Amino acid sequence: MIVGVTRSTDRIDAVRFATRYGSIDVTATGFVDASGDAALAWEAGLACRLPEREIYGSQQLVVEHVDEGRRPDAEELAARIGAKAEAFGLHRQDGLAFFFPDRGTAVLNMTHIEAPLDPIAAADAQIRGKEQADRAVALLRAEFPEAFGRSRVRSYGFPGRRQTRWVAAVHQLTVDEVRAGTRFPDAVARTAWPIELHDTPQGYVWETFGPDHVHYVPLRSMTPPDVHNVLVAGRCIDGDAAALSSVRVMGPCAAEGFAAAHVLDLVGKDSVHDVDLGALAERVAENVEG
Ligand SMILES: Cc1cc2nc3c(=O)[nH]c(=O)nc-3n(C[C@H](O)[C@H](O)[C@H](O)COP(=O)(O)OP(=O)(O)OC[C@H]3O[C@@H](n4cnc5c(N)ncnc54)[C@H](O)[C@@H]3O)c2cc1C
Repeated sequence: MIVGVTRSTDRIDAVRFATRYGSIDVTATGFVDASGDAALAWEAGLACRLPEREIYGSQQLVVEHVDEGRRPDAEELAARIGAKAEAFGLHRQDGLAFFFPDRGTAVLNMTHIEAPLDPIAAADAQIRGKEQADRAVALLRAEFPEAFGRSRVRSYGFPGRRQTRWVAAVHQLTVDEVRAGTRFPDAVARTAWPIELHDTPQGYVWETFGPDHVHYVPLRSMTPPDVHNVLVAGRCIDGDAAALSSVRVMGPCAAEGFAAAHVLDLVGKDSVHDVDLGALAERVAENVEG
């Protein structure tokens, strides 16, 4: 866990971590904030953004003793959850189940929970998330007894957090740029993931694109303006809420981490703002071209 940052005017010099064996200071030439919550940037006093309204996370869970041979199809499942969620005290009124063939297990994505950054509120949300997960299982047992009648919780995941706090970078990716598929000169990642904005307790926006659509992430959306040796990667890069919802998925997150490592390698002790974009483009070509 990050517990402190040593910073000079325009660089991060060291990060202090707490571990179960005591604290440790890590010095490095450059840093990548891949914390999801922009924890490093926040601790360093860099400008960050918060969502204007709650973006909900989900408490995932694994259920066992499922008869997956008799499972409902995805549309039927979602429709029944929509009809019965309120009666079972579920906030979210849709849901997905991912079945594991021949293991009698399924992963359920059926809840919406807040994702606060305050420790007490986060712990409280985690408890309420598990309550929601239990209600989801009760609904499935009652509504689909053939498939889920004997099911029970095998394990709860960590609270799934979608969009919590992110950096204010040199460029904020916009939903217009996502819809237009704007190709930036400093593009480092691309994806065709829909806009997936979980901004109501009941459901979420799911806006798909045409078959040839891709949209891009520019390096500037990973680059905080006031420091020379810090980049961010993953769900804490800069985008408006809808744009971010379409690039915070696993593929582009991984591509951003790949690009960030190459930028730090290319610039050494110089500024990430001065990276040779031609050299970077060669290194990240497999994630951007084609
Ligand atoms: C319920 C749910 C379903 C999803 N489904 C899909 C899907 O089907 N396909 C898809 O592509 N994407 C999906 N996503 C989105 C995707 O999984 C995430 O947005 C993505 O994995 C985020 O990756 P990340 O590395 O940026 O952040 P995270 O995965 O959140 O990783 C951040 C890491 O930083 C650590 N960290 C945070 N703060 C600190 C700190 N202060 N000190 C030290 N360490 C810290 C955390 O412990 C964590 O290990 C889903 C997300 C959710 C919540």
